Amino acid sequence: MVTLLQIHEPGETPEPHATKSELAVGIDLGTTNSVVAISSEGKPEVIRDNDGSALVPSIVAYAPDGSAIVGTLAKGLLLSRPEAVVSSIKRLMGRGVADIKSLAGQLPYEIESTNSEGMVRLKVSGQSLTPVEISADILRALKERANERLGETVSKAVITVPAYFDDAQRVATKDAARLAGIDVLRLVAEPTAAALAYGLDAGAEGLYAVFDLGGGTFDVSLLRMEKGVFQVLATGGDAALGGDDFDHAIAEYFLGQRTGELHEKSFSADEAKVALMTARLAKECLTTDESGEWVIEARGETSRHSLGRDELDLLIKPLVDKTIKICSNVLDDGGVGIDEIKGVVLVGGSTRVPLVRKRVGEFFGREPLANIDPDEVVAIGAALQAEALTQGSDTLLLDVIPLSLGLETMGGLVEKVVHRNTTIPVAKAQEFTTFQDGQTAMSIHVVQGEREMAEQNRSLARFNLSGIPPMTAGAARIRVTFQVDADGLLTVSATEDSTGINAQVEVKPSYGLSDEEMATMLRASMEHAQDDMELRLLTEARVEAERAMKAVESALKADCSLLDDGERDAIGRQIDVVMAAVRGNDRDLINAEVENLDSVTRPFAEKRMDKGIRSALKGVEVKKLDT
Ligand code: ADP
Ligand code: MG
Repeated sequence: MVTLLQIHEPGETPEPHATKSELAVGIDLGTTNSVVAISSEGKPEVIRDNDGSALVPSIVAYAPDGSAIVGTLAKGLLLSRPEAVVSSIKRLMGRGVADIKSLAGQLPYEIESTNSEGMVRLKVSGQSLTPVEISADILRALKERANERLGETVSKAVITVPAYFDDAQRVATKDAARLAGIDVLRLVAEPTAAALAYGLDAGAEGLYAVFDLGGGTFDVSLLRMEKGVFQVLATGGDAALGGDDFDHAIAEYFLGQRTGELHEKSFSADEAKVALMTARLAKECLTTDESGEWVIEARGETSRHSLGRDELDLLIKPLVDKTIKICSNVLDDGGVGIDEIKGVVLVGGSTRVPLVRKRVGEFFGREPLANIDPDEVVAIGAALQAEALTQGSDTLLLDVIPLSLGLETMGGLVEKVVHRNTTIPVAKAQEFTTFQDGQTAMSIHVVQGEREMAEQNRSLARFNLSGIPPMTAGAARIRVTFQVDADGLLTVSATEDSTGINAQVEVKPSYGLSDEEMATMLRASMEHAQDDMELRLLTEARVEAERAMKAVESALKADCSLLDDGERDAIGRQIDVVMAAVRGNDRDLINAEVENLDSVTRPFAEKRMDKGIRSALKGVEVKKLDT
C-alpha cells in the first residue's frame, strides 16, 4: 500500500507539532520602548516583568568593562551618568556617518569621527560601539526576559521594523538579531503586525490605514485585505518624527521661560536634559489632565512652569499637521480616496495624545481603532505571525518595498528597476548595455531611493561584471535581475546574454558589518558569555551601590540637622566603606556593604519620615484626615 502525503485544507492550521522546541516570540524593537510577546494556539500574550510592565525602555548603559544594562535600570542612569547611556539607537541603525550629518546636534551621544563612509560608531564609557551591537544588547535582554518567563530557551523570533526602513536598516536589524543569538523567522513591517493583532486579516475585505506615532518615528500605511490575503498598498512616514519631538517643543518652551526668569541667554546641557524629562512628564500628564505645573531644578536654580492642554496643542500643532499631511500623501500615492478606508488603527504611545487622536479621527472621518494598547499592539501581531510561521500556517503576508531600487547609469543618473510600493517577494529584470566600443567590464552600482541622481540616494552595493566579449557600444545585452525576499532583503545578479557570464551580490550595505567582523563578534560573545554574566551582576551591584550612596548624600544635604555629630560620622564612614567596595570586584561584598549602609541610615530615614509627615500635616484640617 502506498502511503499518501497529507495536505491540509487551505485556511486550516494543521495540528501543532513539536510545540515545545518551536518556541518563537514576536519582538517590537522600538526606538523608545521594546516589547516581547508570545502566542500559543492563537492567543497572544505580552511578556511582562515582575512589576507588570510590558515596555522595556530601549536604553542601554555600559560599564567601563563593556558589560551592558538594559531597560528601566539604564533609564535611571540617564541623568546621573549620561556619558554611559545610549538611547534612541534605532535612529542610527543602518546609517552611515554621512547620513547622520542631518541629525547633528540632536544626538545626545558622542559619534566617533573617523572616515565619512562606514558605519557609525559611538563612544560610550570609553568603548567604541556600533548601533548593531547596541541593538543586539537590547534584543538579548528581551530574549532573557522571555527565557525567564517561559522557562525555556527562545531562539526564534519575528522582529518588526518600520515600514519605511530601507534595505540597509533591515540588514542592520537582522545583524543585531544574529549577534543576540536569535534566528529571525521574518522581518515584518510594524503596521502589518498591528493589523494582524486586530485580526484584520480575518475580517472584512477592504482598505485599512495604520497610523503609528511612536517616540522617534512616524509611519502611516495603507493595507488592503482581500480573499484572506494581506497586502501593504502604500507606506509613508518620517523616520525622524515622534513623541520625542513633542518633548523638544515643550522643553524649548520651558527653557525659554526659564532664561527669561533667570535673565540668562544660554543654558547648560544638563539643564536641557532635565527640561526634556520634565517636558515628557508634562506631555504624558496632559493626556489625561487639563493642566498642571512642573518644576525644573538644575544648576541650583528652580523654575516653575504651568502648561495647559490648549497650550500643549499649540506647541505640537505643526508636528501633528505634518503627520496629517503625510497621511494625505500616502492616500494619493495609493490612488485611494478617504471614503474608501474601512478602518484606522492607532499604534504607538504618542497616539494617546488627545490632539493626535482628534486630528486622525477628523481626517479619516471615523473613530480610530484603539482598544488594543497602542504600545503593545505591534509585538502582539509579531507574536501571532511567529506562531503562524512555526506552525506552518498558510497566513500569507504580503508587503511592499518602501523605497525604489535601481542602478546608476551614465552621468550618475538612476534607472529604477523595482519601484517603491511593489509587492514583495519580487524579481524584476532589466537589460542594460555597454557605453564604449570594446568595453569588457561593467561596474554595477545598486542604489535605493526616489531621487534622480545616484549620489542623492542611498548607495547599497557595487560590484563588477567582467569578461564581456568586446563588441561595439550598445551591442551587448546585460540582464540585471533584482530579487527581493519576504524580509525585504535584496540580491542583485547580472548576466551577459551571449556568453552567460554571471556576477551576483547579496546586497550588503557598505557600512554594514562585514562577515568577518560579524564572526569575530559572535565568537567573542560566545567565549565571554559566562564572564559577561558575572560582569553584568557586578555592574548591577555597583549601580545599586551608587544609587544608594547618592540617595543618602542628598538626604544628608537636605536634613543634616536631624543628626548629631556621632551619627553623621558613622554614616560618613560607611559611605567610605561602600565606596571602597565599589572600587573592588567583589560583588557579594558590595551588596553586603550596601545593606550595612541601609542599616546605619535607618534611624535617620525614620526621623526624616517623621519630619515629612509633620510638615505634610501642617495646615491640614483634622476633618480632612478622617476621609
Ligand atoms: P517607539 O515605537 O518609538 O518605541 P512607543 O510606541 O513606545 O515608541 O511610544 C513612545 C512615545 O509615546 C514616547 O514619546 C512617550 O512619551 C509617548 N507616550 C507614552 N505614553 C503617553 C501618554 N500617556 N501620553 C502621551 N504620550 C505618551
Ligand atoms: Mg513603535
